[in-house]
Amino acid sequence: MMPATPDNPASPAAPEPSATPAALLRASSLPPLEARILLTHVLGWRRTQLITRSDEPLERANVERYLALEARRKAGEPVAQLVGAREFFGLDFEVTPHVLIPRPETELLVETALGTLESLSRPRVLDLGTGTGAIAVAIAATRPDAQVWALDRSAEALAVAARNAARLLDAKRPGGAVALEQSDWYDSLDAALRFDVIVSNPPYIACGDPHLSEGDLRFEPRGALTDEADGLSAIRTIVAGAPARLAVNGALWIEHGYDRAEAVRGLLTAQGFAQVCSERDLAGIERISGGRFGG
Ligand code: GLN
Repeated sequence: MMPATPDNPASPAAPEPSATPAALLRASSLPPLEARILLTHVLGWRRTQLITRSDEPLERANVERYLALEARRKAGEPVAQLVGAREFFGLDFEVTPHVLIPRPETELLVETALGTLESLSRPRVLDLGTGTGAIAVAIAATRPDAQVWALDRSAEALAVAARNAARLLDAKRPGGAVALEQSDWYDSLDAALRFDVIVSNPPYIACGDPHLSEGDLRFEPRGALTDEADGLSAIRTIVAGAPARLAVNGALWIEHGYDRAEAVRGLLTAQGFAQVCSERDLAGIERISGGRFGG
């Protein structure tokens, strides 16, 4: 045992420097899946190697890196930020503290948008508030012929989205590269462009909602989570601006709060959208609403 010094504070619970994966996972107070994700990240291993190599002594530096991540996770930092990645729609997206962490329920938005494009070739797609680029890149990956625009007002988010698009998409896809542009909703978008589908997962948590000070949300960019109002203000802007940017019979689909489907359908109907409806996520919650314009 090394003596405790200012550089090497005594830490009674610390596993031995030569700890094995099995010993580290046994000693961890994290949920087992989280501990395994952090450890595979540190070691650069696949999940199965934690089993096949479970009794292999690890390098001291790796043990220390793992324990540091475990401590940060216990202090609340999201796993996706600690490992810098989150899987979405079968793709591995880079995540930083500048972007919303992709959520599984948002895959419903991607699937629904893809459904509206089925009969179209070389469709044009617009993703508003792209963040990681998860929605835009997932659509572009599934429909290589689609021409995809992705906007965000945050330059830091656009840099993350650009890296995700470059890493996850075929550089020779027929639809070309995703067009990433800095814009506050539609403000800086070329007014002549018309889209077959507009999608958005905007900030929709109402200001003062206690969820904002709980769990992972404490570490995500506040501007990606809340409109600092009633949770509908970004959605109002998106709905109001959509008719001028949609192709004839183009579709708009928006993710919204768990109890906002009726309100969002009301906004769409008031704006003149047809076929207005909502779709339920895997938890049975009406999570997205949309419609078509000018058909
Ligand atoms: N779905 C996220 C949550 O409730 C919120 C994302 C958003 O505001 N767009 O944690």
